[in-house]
Amino acid sequence: MKVIKFGGSSLASATQLTKVLNIVKSDSARRFVVVSAPGKRDANDTKVTDALIAYYTAYKNGEDIRPHQKWIIARYQSICDELGVTGTVMSDIAADITALADLTIEGNQFLYDTFLAAGENNNAKLIAAYFSENGIKARYIHPKEAGIIVSAEPSNARLLPSSYEKINYLNTLDETLVIPGFFGVTETGEICTFSRGGSDITGSIIAAGVHADLYENFTDVDGIYAAHPGIINKPSSIAELTYREMRELAYAGFSVLHDEALLPAYRASVPLVIKNTNNPDHPGTKIVAKRSVTGHPVVGIAADGDFTSLNISKYLMNREVGFGRKVLQILENLGIRFEHMPTGIDDMSIIMRNRYLTDELEQAISHQLTETLQPDVLHFEKDLSILMIVGEDMNEHIGVTAHAANALAKAGINIEMLSQGSSEVSIMFIVKSDQEKAAIKAIYQAFFES
Ligand code: ASP
Repeated sequence: MKVIKFGGSSLASATQLTKVLNIVKSDSARRFVVVSAPGKRDANDTKVTDALIAYYTAYKNGEDIRPHQKWIIARYQSICDELGVTGTVMSDIAADITALADLTIEGNQFLYDTFLAAGENNNAKLIAAYFSENGIKARYIHPKEAGIIVSAEPSNARLLPSSYEKINYLNTLDETLVIPGFFGVTETGEICTFSRGGSDITGSIIAAGVHADLYENFTDVDGIYAAHPGIINKPSSIAELTYREMRELAYAGFSVLHDEALLPAYRASVPLVIKNTNNPDHPGTKIVAKRSVTGHPVVGIAADGDFTSLNISKYLMNREVGFGRKVLQILENLGIRFEHMPTGIDDMSIIMRNRYLTDELEQAISHQLTETLQPDVLHFEKDLSILMIVGEDMNEHIGVTAHAANALAKAGINIEMLSQGSSEVSIMFIVKSDQEKAAIKAIYQAFFES
């Protein structure tokens, strides 16, 4: 029995939905279908989720909401018309989109999430109706009915572990269930979404809850490549990855799968496969606990930009008990998370993502650190990228770092910082952002082309 999730680009038009119908029909094990909101039909199109954000903003600011309502309703209507879906589903969808503008604004911390979730929710209704009219005994299930109960953290929900037991009851239903991705309900019944792209998380949760044999995640690429195809010409595709390798790659910019989507499937030992809606016969990339093919130290190279390093130096830092704790305490008090912390004898660097920093926060950090710790040097280094080479088998190979560093040296790229976790699943190089692409090319060539 399989859980199958379709991303927005697979659901953007009637042509795509016809492929989806055929994929679901071609395998009776595909019993649980998790869907995103309609995505872009072409590069200039707008995702329904983004249109809902614009609608929300207009509503909250007291602006004219009608053009937004009209555009979103017309988007579903055109899919319905092209598919020839009849019945009451389209009027349900239109009423639901319109009714968002009746929600309370004042003090409603779930308003934004409720607007956004409407994209997935209405798409699931539409797809269930389409399936039912085309030979699949299908049923739309709201996350509340499915038992997806989440923490009350707007736009960043987490599943309450007790939900799994409830989700398991879905196994007793005999229809093909169409479940909207991206959101759950809180214990008090509020709509609360996962972070953006979170339909992948729903798929994984359902797969874990029903103890699926496989979680199939359908998108618009033939699986995962060893490096970004926009940077490397025809990179090799990866047939199999471990959960840990995927987690590392997803962290550093492989956006094919949401990085929080692995955990539920991993804990429940459900293998995952990334497949292409436009090429469903391609085997895709399988994500498993143990790879069947081993031996190559590096499976993929990922890079992500927009990092800042807070560099702190103080003579005899190593003798000052509690220095590191005090630095981290200041960050914690300001609500800032850090990503990495490479250190020297008398210096430490805290790597943070730019999106969690503002000018005010940087000033507050500088001020508080200077007052508390009197460092000799304290400065923020901007425009940094992280480059990760990933592979579980690295721990059995000597010289992987040397090989990568050599490639970077030959390409004239300075390594700003370097870090490797004890699990040896990845090695991280920090380079200047304007050298990120050249660094990927150099390392790809070293590990995959020579
Ligand atoms: N529709 C949501 C987004 O665009 C969630 C998803 O597609 O997974 O972020």
